[in-house]
Amino acid sequence: MSALTELYQEIERCQDCELGKHRTRVVPGEGPEKTSLLFIGEAPGWHEDQQGRPFVGPAGKYLEELLASINLKREQVYIANVIKCRPPSNRDPLPNEIQACSKWLTHQIELIRPKMIVTLGRYSMAKYFPNQSISQVHGKARKQDDVIYYAMYHPAAALHQGSLRKTIETDMVKIPQILAQAEKLTEAEAEPQQLNLF
Ligand code: SF4
Repeated sequence: MSALTELYQEIERCQDCELGKHRTRVVPGEGPEKTSLLFIGEAPGWHEDQQGRPFVGPAGKYLEELLASINLKREQVYIANVIKCRPPSNRDPLPNEIQACSKWLTHQIELIRPKMIVTLGRYSMAKYFPNQSISQVHGKARKQDDVIYYAMYHPAAALHQGSLRKTIETDMVKIPQILAQAEKLTEAEAEPQQLNLF
């Protein structure tokens, strides 16, 4: 059994916050064990809670369209959420729930070791771009400890607010180039350099 599968089993048993009592199914995340690109959304919604899979409702379909715009299928990237169980009535997750759940995402990242982490929406953005607003940091990348961090709006936000569609689509098409630069930088490790794409 792979380390990631073992981790899924641990997450499925988790009752470390109130949300564990309300879920139908836990939604650990899915994707290849080794991939360069990790997308992190917020929390499961109704569809995700029913199926135990991330991004399977309308926002998921839109995410698949966005991935197709850069010639990727969802099976080629890893997709996870900050919170692994659905908050009742899709309410915002509470700070103590985010805190309790963060260890699982940390373990996933340690196992997958992505080159680029793309945050979708404000909760995952807050983890990597603290005290910043999404309107300022979306579409910009920063590198830290050999990982590129890149913030985007959540696909659900673009579905509800048509004016964001162009923005999220423009931000998505920048990813291949940024990822290519990340790979080049990894190869050039002997010459320390900072990538600042702001
Ligand atoms: S939301 Fe996270 S911490 Fe809370 S019960 Fe589910 S897996 Fe555990």
